[in-house]
Amino acid sequence: MIAIEATETLGSAAVLDDGTALPCDLFLGIPKHCAPPVVEASGLAENGWIPVNPRTLETKCSGVYAIGDVSNTGTPKGGVFAEGAARAVASSLIARIGGAGQPEPFAGAGSCYVEMGGGQVGRVDVDFFSGPKPTGVFHEASADLRAEKEQFGVSRRRRWFGS
Ligand SMILES: Cc1cc2nc3c(=O)[nH]c(=O)nc-3n(C[C@H](O)[C@H](O)[C@H](O)COP(=O)(O)OP(=O)(O)OC[C@H]3O[C@@H](n4cnc5c(N)ncnc54)[C@H](O)[C@@H]3O)c2cc1C
Repeated sequence: MIAIEATETLGSAAVLDDGTALPCDLFLGIPKHCAPPVVEASGLAENGWIPVNPRTLETKCSGVYAIGDVSNTGTPKGGVFAEGAARAVASSLIARIGGAGQPEPFAGAGSCYVEMGGGQVGRVDVDFFSGPKPTGVFHEASADLRAEKEQFGVSRRRRWFGS
């Protein structure tokens, strides 16, 4: 736990559990990552996260799926993986309801853009399921990748919000 306190001698400080105070002017923090209480209470979670079949995202309850950060797939907890998992579940439901076609399994692959400054963006392509070990390929930063990253954002905003 970290508490932010105003102290007489240090100004603002981040105070750790053991009482150590770290002076700071600006504190950027991310809360401890955990599944929301409603997921914990569902009975689906084990050790804080929902175990799933990593390819189908199906939980221990038949016909119940978990996608995104709450699920344990063996991939990092990232938006790009949540999107890929959602696509796989949608394809599975379409095949099930339509009674035809093969569902597309979750590929466990995705890309992460890396801002380098100066208008340059790099990209790391990672693949967790194809081989015996996860692999990652780094693409050197460039202006082309910056344009690609912007297009990535535009395409998601358009799909989700229509603008
Ligand atoms: C600082 C930061 C930077 C990141 N950068 C990247 C990045 O560059 N690329 C990337 O791919 N990923 C990134 N991620 C990870 C990405 O944000 C998550 O993996 C992604 O948001 C997970 O999506 P999700 O839908 O599973 O969960 P969330 O986005 O957390 O959505 C869960 C939603 O459920 C809501 N909720 C909780 N409890 C209830 C309830 N009882 N009733 C109703 N609603 C409830 C929450 O309010 C929340 O809106 C980043 C994460 C952080 C913290």
